[in-house]
Amino acid sequence: MPKIPKIIGNFLEHNFSKLFIKATITNKIYLSESLLLVRFEGEFERINFEVGQAILVRIDETQYRNYSPSLWKSDLDFFEVIFHIHQKGPGSDYLIQLPIGEVISLSVPRGSKVYKPESTKHFFFGDDTCIGFYNSLKKEIENDGHLYAGILEIEAESRVYVEERYKHIKMVEKSINPGENALKMLNSFFKQFWDDFNDATFYLMGNAKSIQLIQRKLRNQGIPKSQIITQPFWVEGKIGL
Ligand SMILES: Cc1cc2nc3c(=O)[nH]c(=O)nc-3n(C[C@H](O)[C@H](O)[C@H](O)COP(=O)(O)OP(=O)(O)OC[C@H]3O[C@@H](n4cnc5c(N)ncnc54)[C@H](O)[C@@H]3O)c2cc1C
Repeated sequence: MPKIPKIIGNFLEHNFSKLFIKATITNKIYLSESLLLVRFEGEFERINFEVGQAILVRIDETQYRNYSPSLWKSDLDFFEVIFHIHQKGPGSDYLIQLPIGEVISLSVPRGSKVYKPESTKHFFFGDDTCIGFYNSLKKEIENDGHLYAGILEIEAESRVYVEERYKHIKMVEKSINPGENALKMLNSFFKQFWDDFNDATFYLMGNAKSIQLIQRKLRNQGIPKSQIITQPFWVEGKIGL
Protein backbone atom coordinates (compact mmCIF):
# COMPACT_ATOMS: atom_id res chain seq x y z
CA MET A 1 0.00 0.00 0.00
CA PRO A 2 2.60 2.67 -0.97
CA LYS A 3 -0.02 5.30 -1.92
CA ILE A 4 -3.60 6.02 -0.85
CA PRO A 5 -5.73 9.18 -1.26
CA LYS A 6 -5.28 11.70 1.58
CA ILE A 7 -8.97 11.57 2.53
CA ILE A 8 -8.86 7.77 2.99
CA GLY A 9 -5.59 7.94 4.93
CA ASN A 10 -7.07 10.53 7.31
CA PHE A 11 -10.30 8.54 7.61
CA LEU A 12 -8.39 5.35 8.54
CA GLU A 13 -6.23 7.13 11.10
CA HIS A 14 -9.21 8.79 12.80
CA ASN A 15 -11.67 5.89 12.69
CA PHE A 16 -9.35 2.93 13.21
CA SER A 17 -7.20 4.54 15.86
CA LYS A 18 -6.19 1.17 17.33
CA LEU A 19 -4.25 0.51 14.12
CA PHE A 20 -2.23 3.73 14.35
CA ILE A 21 0.17 5.18 16.89
CA LYS A 22 1.82 8.54 17.40
CA ALA A 23 5.55 8.47 18.00
CA THR A 24 8.11 11.15 18.85
CA ILE A 25 11.54 11.06 17.24
CA THR A 26 13.92 11.17 20.19
CA ASN A 27 17.24 10.20 18.61
CA LYS A 28 18.90 9.89 15.19
CA ILE A 29 22.33 8.32 14.74
CA TYR A 30 24.15 7.70 11.46
CA LEU A 31 25.67 4.21 11.82
CA SER A 32 27.36 4.79 8.46
CA GLU A 33 26.87 7.28 5.60
CA SER A 34 23.80 5.37 4.43
CA LEU A 35 22.45 3.73 7.60
CA LEU A 36 20.34 5.84 9.91
CA LEU A 37 19.14 4.55 13.28
CA VAL A 38 16.05 6.35 14.58
CA ARG A 39 14.53 5.97 18.04
CA PHE A 40 10.76 6.47 18.41
CA GLU A 41 9.07 7.02 21.78
CA GLY A 42 5.37 6.96 22.65
CA GLU A 43 2.73 4.94 24.46
CA PHE A 44 3.49 1.42 23.25
CA GLU A 45 2.63 -0.59 26.35
CA ARG A 46 -0.37 -2.39 24.77
CA ILE A 47 1.44 -3.05 21.49
CA ASN A 48 2.87 -6.43 20.66
CA PHE A 49 5.76 -6.91 18.23
CA GLU A 50 6.92 -10.10 16.53
CA VAL A 51 10.18 -10.36 14.57
CA GLY A 52 9.56 -9.66 10.90
CA GLN A 53 6.55 -7.44 11.41
CA ALA A 54 6.72 -3.97 9.89
CA ILE A 55 5.36 -0.54 10.70
CA LEU A 56 3.88 1.63 7.97
CA VAL A 57 5.28 5.18 8.09
CA ARG A 58 3.21 8.01 6.60
CA ILE A 59 5.86 9.97 4.70
CA ASP A 60 3.52 12.60 3.24
CA GLU A 61 -0.21 13.17 2.81
CA THR A 62 -0.69 10.22 0.46
CA GLN A 63 2.38 7.96 0.70
CA TYR A 64 3.32 5.18 3.12
CA ARG A 65 6.43 3.00 3.43
CA ASN A 66 7.15 -0.20 5.35
CA TYR A 67 10.00 -0.53 7.86
CA SER A 68 10.87 -3.40 10.16
CA PRO A 69 11.98 -2.39 13.71
CA SER A 70 15.46 -3.44 14.83
CA LEU A 71 14.47 -3.26 18.50
CA TRP A 72 11.04 -3.10 20.14
CA LYS A 73 10.59 -2.41 23.87
CA SER A 74 6.88 -2.06 24.72
CA ASP A 75 7.64 -2.00 28.46
CA LEU A 76 10.00 0.96 28.01
CA ASP A 77 7.79 2.73 25.44
CA PHE A 78 10.33 2.91 22.64
CA PHE A 79 11.42 1.17 19.47
CA GLU A 80 14.17 1.67 16.90
CA VAL A 81 14.43 1.30 13.13
CA ILE A 82 17.54 1.16 10.93
CA PHE A 83 16.81 2.97 7.67
CA HIS A 84 18.78 2.53 4.47
CA ILE A 85 19.28 6.07 3.18
CA HIS A 86 19.50 5.41 -0.56
CA GLN A 87 18.24 8.88 -1.58
CA LYS A 88 16.26 7.66 -4.56
CA GLY A 89 12.81 8.01 -3.03
CA PRO A 90 10.68 10.23 -0.79
CA GLY A 91 10.80 7.76 2.14
CA SER A 92 14.57 7.95 2.31
CA ASP A 93 14.51 11.78 1.91
CA TYR A 94 11.79 12.16 4.55
CA LEU A 95 13.86 10.35 7.16
CA ILE A 96 16.93 12.51 6.59
CA GLN A 97 15.08 15.75 7.30
CA LEU A 98 12.93 14.52 10.23
CA PRO A 99 13.89 16.67 13.24
CA ILE A 100 14.30 15.36 16.80
CA GLY A 101 11.10 16.11 18.69
CA GLU A 102 8.82 15.66 15.65
CA VAL A 103 5.67 13.61 16.29
CA ILE A 104 4.74 11.32 13.41
CA SER A 105 1.98 8.87 12.58
CA LEU A 106 2.70 5.15 12.15
CA SER A 107 0.74 1.94 11.91
CA VAL A 108 1.10 -0.65 14.67
CA PRO A 109 3.42 -3.55 13.64
CA ARG A 110 1.70 -5.78 11.08
CA GLY A 111 2.51 -8.97 9.24
CA SER A 112 3.09 -12.52 10.25
CA LYS A 113 5.60 -13.90 12.72
CA VAL A 114 8.70 -14.86 10.74
CA TYR A 115 11.00 -16.49 13.30
CA LYS A 116 10.71 -20.29 13.49
CA PRO A 117 11.80 -21.26 17.04
CA GLU A 118 11.15 -24.96 16.33
CA SER A 119 14.17 -24.88 14.01
CA THR A 120 17.50 -24.99 15.85
CA LYS A 121 19.59 -23.67 12.94
CA HIS A 122 18.99 -20.46 11.05
CA PHE A 123 20.53 -18.86 7.97
CA PHE A 124 19.91 -15.24 7.03
CA PHE A 125 20.41 -13.39 3.75
CA GLY A 126 19.65 -9.70 3.24
CA ASP A 127 20.89 -6.26 2.23
CA ASP A 128 21.15 -2.77 3.79
CA THR A 129 17.35 -2.58 4.24
CA CYS A 130 17.36 -5.76 6.36
CA ILE A 131 19.92 -4.92 9.03
CA GLY A 132 17.14 -3.97 11.45
CA PHE A 133 15.21 -7.14 10.73
CA TYR A 134 18.40 -9.18 11.13
CA ASN A 135 19.15 -7.46 14.45
CA SER A 136 15.79 -8.45 15.95
CA LEU A 137 15.94 -11.99 14.47
CA LYS A 138 19.45 -12.51 15.87
CA LYS A 139 18.28 -11.58 19.39
CA GLU A 140 15.56 -14.26 19.31
CA ILE A 141 17.97 -16.89 17.95
CA GLU A 142 20.57 -16.07 20.62
CA ASN A 143 17.93 -16.10 23.39
CA ASP A 144 16.99 -19.61 22.28
CA GLY A 145 20.65 -20.70 22.08
CA HIS A 146 20.37 -21.77 18.43
CA LEU A 147 23.03 -21.96 15.73
CA TYR A 148 23.05 -19.31 13.00
CA ALA A 149 24.97 -18.00 10.03
CA GLY A 150 24.28 -15.73 7.10
CA ILE A 151 25.35 -13.25 4.47
CA LEU A 152 24.66 -9.51 4.36
CA GLU A 153 25.17 -7.86 0.98
CA ILE A 154 25.69 -4.19 1.73
CA GLU A 155 27.20 -0.94 0.53
CA ALA A 156 30.94 -0.47 1.11
CA GLU A 157 30.51 2.44 3.54
CA SER A 158 28.58 0.24 6.01
CA ARG A 159 31.24 -2.47 6.11
CA VAL A 160 32.95 -1.28 9.30
CA TYR A 161 29.69 -0.99 11.23
CA VAL A 162 28.42 -4.42 10.15
CA GLU A 163 31.74 -6.23 10.64
CA GLU A 164 32.20 -4.82 14.14
CA ARG A 165 28.67 -5.51 15.24
CA TYR A 166 27.72 -8.79 13.58
CA LYS A 167 30.57 -11.27 13.96
CA HIS A 168 28.55 -14.39 13.05
CA ILE A 169 27.62 -13.19 9.60
CA LYS A 170 29.64 -12.91 6.39
CA MET A 171 29.63 -9.56 4.69
CA VAL A 172 29.91 -8.96 0.95
CA GLU A 173 29.79 -5.64 -0.88
CA LYS A 174 26.84 -4.88 -3.11
CA SER A 175 27.66 -4.81 -6.84
CA ILE A 176 25.51 -3.41 -9.67
CA ASN A 177 23.94 -6.87 -9.97
CA PRO A 178 22.10 -7.47 -6.68
CA GLY A 179 22.72 -10.87 -5.15
CA GLU A 180 25.73 -11.62 -7.38
CA ASN A 181 28.40 -11.32 -4.67
CA ALA A 182 26.31 -13.16 -2.09
CA LEU A 183 25.84 -15.98 -4.59
CA LYS A 184 29.61 -16.12 -5.19
CA MET A 185 30.12 -16.39 -1.43
CA LEU A 186 27.52 -19.18 -1.15
CA ASN A 187 29.20 -21.02 -4.04
CA SER A 188 32.45 -20.95 -2.09
CA PHE A 189 30.96 -22.67 0.99
CA PHE A 190 32.35 -26.13 1.69
CA LYS A 191 30.26 -29.32 1.67
CA GLN A 192 30.43 -29.29 5.47
CA PHE A 193 28.27 -26.14 5.56
CA TRP A 194 25.55 -27.74 3.40
CA ASP A 195 25.66 -30.92 5.53
CA ASP A 196 25.34 -28.88 8.75
CA PHE A 197 22.62 -26.53 7.50
CA ASN A 198 20.48 -28.91 5.41
CA ASP A 199 17.74 -28.80 8.07
CA ALA A 200 18.04 -25.07 8.85
CA THR A 201 15.44 -22.37 8.27
CA PHE A 202 16.59 -19.91 5.59
CA TYR A 203 15.35 -16.29 5.81
CA LEU A 204 15.79 -14.40 2.53
CA MET A 205 14.92 -10.68 2.71
CA GLY A 206 15.57 -7.42 0.85
CA ASN A 207 15.95 -6.96 -2.90
CA ALA A 208 13.52 -9.15 -4.83
CA LYS A 209 16.03 -10.12 -7.56
CA SER A 210 18.68 -11.14 -5.02
CA ILE A 211 16.14 -13.25 -3.19
CA GLN A 212 15.30 -15.12 -6.42
CA LEU A 213 18.98 -15.76 -7.10
CA ILE A 214 19.73 -17.07 -3.61
CA GLN A 215 16.53 -19.10 -3.47
CA ARG A 216 17.43 -20.84 -6.75
CA LYS A 217 20.86 -21.73 -5.35
CA LEU A 218 19.33 -23.15 -2.16
CA ARG A 219 16.82 -25.22 -4.13
CA ASN A 220 19.69 -26.56 -6.31
CA GLN A 221 21.48 -27.54 -3.11
CA GLY A 222 18.47 -29.63 -2.16
CA ILE A 223 16.97 -27.29 0.47
CA PRO A 224 13.18 -27.85 0.43
CA LYS A 225 10.85 -24.89 -0.17
CA SER A 226 9.27 -25.44 3.26
CA GLN A 227 12.57 -24.39 4.89
CA ILE A 228 12.87 -21.13 2.93
CA ILE A 229 11.10 -17.95 4.06
CA THR A 230 11.18 -15.03 1.61
CA GLN A 231 10.13 -11.41 2.07
CA PRO A 232 10.97 -8.89 -0.68
CA PHE A 233 11.53 -5.41 0.81
CA TRP A 234 12.11 -3.54 -2.46
CA VAL A 235 12.21 -3.99 -6.23
CA GLU A 236 14.35 -1.89 -8.59
CA GLY A 237 12.25 0.76 -10.33
CA LYS A 238 9.19 0.10 -8.17
CA ILE A 239 7.69 2.51 -5.64
CA GLY A 240 7.27 1.12 -2.12
CA LEU A 241 6.27 -2.49 -1.41
C1 LIG B 1 8.10 -5.66 5.31
C2 LIG B 1 9.13 -4.63 4.90
C3 LIG B 1 10.07 -4.18 5.83
C4 LIG B 1 11.03 -3.22 5.46
N1 LIG B 1 11.94 -2.80 6.39
C5 LIG B 1 12.88 -1.87 6.06
C6 LIG B 1 13.84 -1.40 7.03
O1 LIG B 1 13.83 -1.79 8.20
N2 LIG B 1 14.75 -0.48 6.61
C7 LIG B 1 14.79 0.01 5.33
O2 LIG B 1 15.65 0.83 5.00
N3 LIG B 1 13.88 -0.42 4.41
C8 LIG B 1 12.94 -1.33 4.74
N4 LIG B 1 12.02 -1.75 3.81
C9 LIG B 1 12.19 -1.28 2.44
C10 LIG B 1 11.56 0.09 2.18
O3 LIG B 1 10.19 0.07 2.52
C11 LIG B 1 11.73 0.37 0.66
O4 LIG B 1 13.11 0.48 0.37
C12 LIG B 1 10.99 1.60 0.18
O5 LIG B 1 10.85 1.49 -1.21
C13 LIG B 1 11.69 2.91 0.51
O6 LIG B 1 10.87 3.98 0.07
P1 LIG B 1 11.45 5.25 -0.69
O7 LIG B 1 10.36 6.26 -0.70
O8 LIG B 1 12.76 5.61 -0.09
O9 LIG B 1 11.70 4.74 -2.18
P2 LIG B 1 10.53 4.44 -3.26
O10 LIG B 1 9.79 5.70 -3.59
O11 LIG B 1 9.71 3.31 -2.79
O12 LIG B 1 11.37 3.99 -4.53
C14 LIG B 1 12.03 4.94 -5.38
C15 LIG B 1 13.15 4.24 -6.14
O13 LIG B 1 14.13 3.84 -5.21
C16 LIG B 1 14.42 2.44 -5.35
N5 LIG B 1 14.71 1.91 -4.00
C17 LIG B 1 13.85 1.63 -2.98
N6 LIG B 1 14.51 1.16 -1.91
C18 LIG B 1 15.82 1.13 -2.27
C19 LIG B 1 17.00 0.76 -1.59
N7 LIG B 1 16.99 0.33 -0.32
N8 LIG B 1 18.19 0.87 -2.24
C20 LIG B 1 18.24 1.33 -3.53
N9 LIG B 1 17.14 1.71 -4.22
C21 LIG B 1 15.96 1.61 -3.59
C22 LIG B 1 13.15 1.84 -5.94
O14 LIG B 1 13.43 0.69 -6.66
C23 LIG B 1 12.68 2.96 -6.84
O15 LIG B 1 13.33 2.90 -8.09
C24 LIG B 1 11.05 -2.68 4.14
C25 LIG B 1 10.07 -3.11 3.23
C26 LIG B 1 9.14 -4.08 3.59
C27 LIG B 1 8.12 -4.52 2.57
